[in-house]
Amino acid sequence: MAKPVLLSVDDDSDVLRAIERDLRSQYGAEYRVMGSDSAEQALDILKQLKLRNDSVALLLADQRMPQMDGVQFLQEAMRIYPDAKRALLTAYADTTAAISAINEASINYFFLKPWDPPSERLYPQLDDLLDDWKASYRPKFDGIRVLGTRWSAHSYELRDFLSRNQVPYHWIDVELSANDPETKRLLDALGPEASNLPVVLFPDGTKLLESLPAQVAQKVGLKTRAQTNFYQLAIVGGGPAGLAAAVYGASEGLSTVMIEREAPGGQAGMSSRIENYLGFPIGLSGADLARRAVVQAQRFGVEILSPQEVVGIRTEGSYRILKLADGSEISCHALMISTGVQWRRLDAPGIDRLQGAGVYYGGGATEALSCKGEMVYVVGGANSAGQAAMNFAKYADRVCILVRGDSLSSTMSKYLIDQIKQTRNIELWTHASVAEVHGVSRLEEISVHCSDTNKIERVAAASMFIFIGALPQTDWLGNMVERDEHGFILTGPDLFREGNRPKGWSLDRDPFLLETNIPGIFAVGDVRHGSVKRVASGVGEGSVAVQFIHQYLSKV
Ligand SMILES: Cc1cc2nc3c(=O)[nH]c(=O)nc-3n(C[C@H](O)[C@H](O)[C@H](O)COP(=O)(O)OP(=O)(O)OC[C@H]3O[C@@H](n4cnc5c(N)ncnc54)[C@H](O)[C@@H]3O)c2cc1C
Repeated sequence: MAKPVLLSVDDDSDVLRAIERDLRSQYGAEYRVMGSDSAEQALDILKQLKLRNDSVALLLADQRMPQMDGVQFLQEAMRIYPDAKRALLTAYADTTAAISAINEASINYFFLKPWDPPSERLYPQLDDLLDDWKASYRPKFDGIRVLGTRWSAHSYELRDFLSRNQVPYHWIDVELSANDPETKRLLDALGPEASNLPVVLFPDGTKLLESLPAQVAQKVGLKTRAQTNFYQLAIVGGGPAGLAAAVYGASEGLSTVMIEREAPGGQAGMSSRIENYLGFPIGLSGADLARRAVVQAQRFGVEILSPQEVVGIRTEGSYRILKLADGSEISCHALMISTGVQWRRLDAPGIDRLQGAGVYYGGGATEALSCKGEMVYVVGGANSAGQAAMNFAKYADRVCILVRGDSLSSTMSKYLIDQIKQTRNIELWTHASVAEVHGVSRLEEISVHCSDTNKIERVAAASMFIFIGALPQTDWLGNMVERDEHGFILTGPDLFREGNRPKGWSLDRDPFLLETNIPGIFAVGDVRHGSVKRVASGVGEGSVAVQFIHQYLSKV
């Protein structure tokens, strides 16, 4: 955390140097001493400090300055830093003006020039002022601040990205806190740039306007480019399956890179509480699981590129070559595909337009807190929807789960159904499907088709979270890797047609259990045809596949 600032302003450079020297020798250990030879420049400095979220403890200004005198400067400065102590430096002739400034312009003190010896004529009075300031001083948040609005899709995307990548940040909703004086001061310091939301302010004083996740990723040091262009093992997708493969591969000595499009943790990272993962009797959040796995993988030397997307693939002899979204390439001998599944889109008028502005796919962990006191709709009847409903119920006034069927029993685990039944503010709306969503710039209402009555009911809604199943996105594999009709990747025995090995297979062995129709390319987790869609099974497959990779690499 940066030290609080003592700022002095004097157009006479000798006096400025002298006051800075005296302040520094007495207070330098605890405060940062800054100086300026003009009031205008000092105001600019204060605006920059405000954007960096730095604290200012004292403003000390000479009364006689051209363009703007000391009292005027202190009054302007008060708009930016109202809590800073304000003092004037005056000549004897200006004493009367200084006394009236104390009353009229809320100046805390005035010092007569020269102030020698400072031990008698400067420090005791400043000690008093600074003690007083410290009594109400609360250290400021020393990290990234994000300014935006709740109903902006861009702000949502950015916040979701930061939380899923476990980057701490302070969120300032400029609409909700429009009457908050500190927010007003911050927006004033930003000036016209305040309209380029979302704005990200970094502790080093830099800022990004209309910020995109990739820009912020670069700025906070998330790694998106590989250190070298060849690895023994490359893993595409950093969910539980990919992370497990990374930990096992690297711990067994393979040079390993893992490329993840959004944030390590995958779907599991969005889970508010995973209760069925072995070894965690009271459950753990997906974010916690992801954080632990990332640390473990990094400890074994896995290089994690995130956010970075793989967009293409080709082979050259024994090399499998990945094309990344930034145009760069990575080659490897063994390739693991663990790209999981992505949410299925809900096909109803208005959904795409209001996505991120009240309509969300998935858990929307960042949104849960914002739903305090509101009515929240959750669409879907599987475990993911149940977990989300339980999480929202902690904050929202009421949560309504919309399901097409007549109950949850065929789609949701019994432990979750029991928890939902016991939760006072969760209700279930059966035979219900979303027919349309309404709202100008944010979700306002939902039209629900009730299949039992064949009627449409229109209800008010601020947020709707959709969990209606998921499909793999494997188009980037082109025609190379065999998939089923839904895009899930075929491996091992599933590749055989009428007892024959896959077309083009040239080795004198069968494909390994988790190997695709291309030797050395493996698929694990949810993206694999026939996989059990669970964290533990993904982790199991990711770890087991590494054994086959060793066997494969021994012959390359
Ligand atoms: C909300 C929710 C709650 C859940 N709760 C539970 C639970 O309690 N217990 C349980 O056992 N299971 C649960 N599941 C299911 C479980 O999370 C999944 O089965 C598991 O995450 C699958 O792991 P995976 O590694 O195969 O794929 P995913 O977790 O889907 O990870 C795949 C990763 O690949 C990345 N990716 C995709 N394409 C590319 C590309 N081209 N380039 C780079 N990266 C790419 C994605 O961004 C993603 O991070 C839950 C799922 C959800 C959504």
